[in-house]
Amino acid sequence: MEKGAYRVLLYYKYVHIEDPDTFAAEHLAFCKELGLKGRILVGAEGINGTCSGTVEQTDAYMDMMHNDERFKDLWFKIDEADGHAFKKMHVRHRKEIVNLSLEEDINPLELTGQYLKPEEFLKAMQDENTVVFDTRNDYEYDLGHFRGAIRPDIENFRDLPEWVRDNKELFEGKKVLAYCTGGIRCEKFTGWMKREGFDDVAHLQGGIVTYGKDPVAKGQLWDGQCYVFDERIAVPVNQVEHVVVGKDHFDGTPCERYVNCANPECNKKILSSEENERLYMRSCSDECRTHPRNRYFVEMNMTVEEFDARMEEIERRRNEEKVAN
Ligand SMILES: [Zn+2]
Repeated sequence: MEKGAYRVLLYYKYVHIEDPDTFAAEHLAFCKELGLKGRILVGAEGINGTCSGTVEQTDAYMDMMHNDERFKDLWFKIDEADGHAFKKMHVRHRKEIVNLSLEEDINPLELTGQYLKPEEFLKAMQDENTVVFDTRNDYEYDLGHFRGAIRPDIENFRDLPEWVRDNKELFEGKKVLAYCTGGIRCEKFTGWMKREGFDDVAHLQGGIVTYGKDPVAKGQLWDGQCYVFDERIAVPVNQVEHVVVGKDHFDGTPCERYVNCANPECNKKILSSEENERLYMRSCSDECRTHPRNRYFVEMNMTVEEFDARMEEIERRRNEEKVAN
């Protein structure tokens, strides 16, 4: 299939939606009729979606949305693609279109940080009175991030407020430059930071995906790739240079390939080469490797002898490392 025959759309808007349950049901029917695939969250506070389809299908979708008074200025970030980036089409009603679960909610239409366009963000990053703050999860950061950005040690966005309270000295007296994938997480989060007393908080308008396409910023000062929540997993950002920052979970060598741990109870995202995936049976630890429900053995039709041989090989490598250190 030729590149560009398909597209992936990423979009959100905070705007009041009356009766989000009915809206979600009708929206799902419409998307299915068009042949789109993806994940869309709908709430009384707005819409947050990512979906894939052919050029014709996505054009029809964008036209339909722009003809709706509520979404007439909806900003679609468009990536060309070789095919669908999702297997199914979901539209779900959620209280929040990004789960932050604050005790006291923020309306980003009333309180949010300063918006910086990509070229303004690039310039601000080079000012020594600023700190660059990645508001995404640890596994997203590990695949790629702005050079020198603060890495929150969190697996879920809703844990970020507590993390900031525990690490507030990192931000004090500095202008905070927050960023996330498409911009939506920063909308409420920079508002929350201002409410917490950080006065000078800005965020990257349109997020990393916009920054990577900007003709002036060209993705500069971004290292690695950008984690995305669809089948592509990683997309390029920096048009000028590509510095790999991801490290293989097993041997620490440069790596940008994510797999999920084969223990269904763990399912952790780990960076791994194909070779190490095979040797370590796509399992992040010995505990996961020997877990009775490990999916890898079933998928690979492995025999007990094969399993034992790999465990021996892993043990042999560990001993070699010990000797080397
Ligand atoms: Zn695991």
